[in-house]
Amino acid sequence: MFYDNSNIFAKILRGEVPCRVVDEDDHTLSFEDINPQAPVHVLVIPKKSYVDWTDFTKRASTEEIVKFTKAISRVAKKKNISKTGYRVISNIGLDGNQEVPHLHMHIIGGRLLGPLLESKE
Ligand code: AMP
Repeated sequence: MFYDNSNIFAKILRGEVPCRVVDEDDHTLSFEDINPQAPVHVLVIPKKSYVDWTDFTKRASTEEIVKFTKAISRVAKKKNISKTGYRVISNIGLDGNQEVPHLHMHIIGGRLLGPLLESKE
């Protein structure tokens, strides 16, 4: 799977583009989405280069996968949405409408989110 080093999240990881960090460990970085869809909208990304979830689960170590999963819960706790609830979304590929080709989880909450999809078409 081809990874494009010029994508915006790769630039954030290299420190070329700023971001508002919410959480960080040796394998993950979490930061505020630049165009929030709800009062809480944070992106969790792995620090190594993975295009999407398929690529990540194929190539990442067990430690990276565990740390990535735990980072999601930690962000929810830091943003005070663990108890009220939230949504975790990863857009993958063409049908998933993925815009940035570096794996990311959207952590969205802080209000009633309603149905998952607007339309069934
Ligand atoms: P996706 O469609 O799942 O690939 O989502 C990409 C997300 O990245 C969108 O929610 C954008 O608002 C967000 N985004 C794009 N550029 C930046 C940036 N420089 N800092 C933070 N979030 C960004």
